[in-house]
Amino acid sequence: MAYDENNIFARIIRGEIPCSTVYEDQHVLAFKDIQPKRRVHVLIIPKGHYLDMTDFAENASDAEIVAYARAVKKVADKLGIAETGYRLIANTGVDGHQEVPHLHVHMVGGEPAGPMLKNK
Ligand code: AMP
Repeated sequence: MAYDENNIFARIIRGEIPCSTVYEDQHVLAFKDIQPKRRVHVLIIPKGHYLDMTDFAENASDAEIVAYARAVKKVADKLGIAETGYRLIANTGVDGHQEVPHLHVHMVGGEPAGPMLKNK
């Protein structure tokens, strides 16, 4: 699947759509999810155009990958949830039920996340 330059997160990165920024650096943007599922619900995205974690792992530069991993801790610190914990979710592709085709990791916390997945 080709990257869609007009997906909603690409438009947020370009500043065409507003977001509630929590953290930003050269390679990474983190902002509040518009429909939070827990008290804290932030999306962490690379600024580079990557469809999903598979694309990112294969094609991102080392600098982008390092920045992305380090941003997770910085965002947790900034949100004050590093000690109490959080859950990271990266929905990927069709079976992962990914809705926005730009890599994003959900960080949820501020209260118990609950069991991981319900049995079918
Ligand atoms: P996913 O199902 O993993 O692709 O999740 C996409 C997430 O993006 C959902 O949790 C949406 O609530 C969130 N979302 C969609 N549009 C926006 C937006 N404009 N600002 C912030 N979050 C958004």
